[in-house]
Amino acid sequence: MSRVIEIIDKLEKSRCLSPGEYTVLLSPSLTAAEEEMLRARARAAADAVFGRKVKLRGLLEVTNVCRNDCLYCGLRRDNRQLRRYTLSHDVILDCCRSGYRAGFRTFVLQGGENPAYTAESVASLVGRIKSEFPDAAVTLSLGEWPDEAYHLFREAGADRYLLRHETHNGEHYSRLHPQEMSLANRLRCLDTLKRLGYETGTGIMVGSPYQRVAHIVEDLEYMHRLQPDMIGIGPFIPHSATPFAAMSPGTIRLTTRLISILRLMFPHANIPSTTALATLEGEGRNRGLLAGANVVMPNISPVEIRGCYSLYDNKAASGAEAVEGLRLLAEEIGREGFEF
Ligand code: SAM
Repeated sequence: MSRVIEIIDKLEKSRCLSPGEYTVLLSPSLTAAEEEMLRARARAAADAVFGRKVKLRGLLEVTNVCRNDCLYCGLRRDNRQLRRYTLSHDVILDCCRSGYRAGFRTFVLQGGENPAYTAESVASLVGRIKSEFPDAAVTLSLGEWPDEAYHLFREAGADRYLLRHETHNGEHYSRLHPQEMSLANRLRCLDTLKRLGYETGTGIMVGSPYQRVAHIVEDLEYMHRLQPDMIGIGPFIPHSATPFAAMSPGTIRLTTRLISILRLMFPHANIPSTTALATLEGEGRNRGLLAGANVVMPNISPVEIRGCYSLYDNKAASGAEAVEGLRLLAEEIGREGFEF
């Protein structure tokens, strides 16, 4: 039996590998047959838990105002070319209403770290959504807050929180973020979210500038310790108004390989096939699902502002990516035998 097959077997059984074994699975020299075996085993693990059913999450991009200056992100403070917006609570509630009518039972409120947001205003928004839609889950993805704020959101009814750690290597973290941000603070946030009983999501961008295989191995070891409920993995895609404009994007190949490794590590986790994958390639979303992902997140934000939530260039925000395109999305994933 080849070393790679042994490692895949071990991952399936023990849900965890040594750093050297993760490195083998991430190596560019894996043969096409080995890569396909990893993919098929990961998809079988997803099938055993979720079948071919894909979970739908309605993504609401509530604000593109951000105090941070992350070097990779189009919403960074220093991007003066961006028309900034903040949706009012009433508009957000309207989007939830139309999302609810379309069948969504999870609303993901994502946005920059808007200095105009207070913990009380976010909590009040969560409270309004939960009282109007008690059977829907609210996921927040609003960045780093003090512990007390996360506590307040939870008391107001927030069920889940998504905060990618982006990289678990301190030196790499400092090349992606401005000096005033720290990996320690991000990890503090994730620990608090777990402790407060949120379903907690983390993740990384694949192929972010300066990322090495050794960093991804550190990320996998961290995720093994954290035991996240959700994992967001998408390729890095450059944005023309950031310092990383000229950097190369991450690849679909490595992204899907990581989805497969993570699926075998966490058979029950919710792993989306991300917009960034769909942006890189027409069949990107299906490639993510075939690698073991089980969630898609159509955009339910108002159509007029979608172009302004520009994390990276050419971000997909219409057609099968959006609430109006649910039929298209059903057709697209149906081609590979998935349904929602
Ligand atoms: N501010 C919150 C935070 O940082 O978690 C939520 C919004 S942030 C824009 C959401 C995610 O977008 C980040 O976690 C990051 O991984 C992803 N992102 C930002 N810029 C990106 C890029 N150029 N390519 C791919 N993903 C990107």
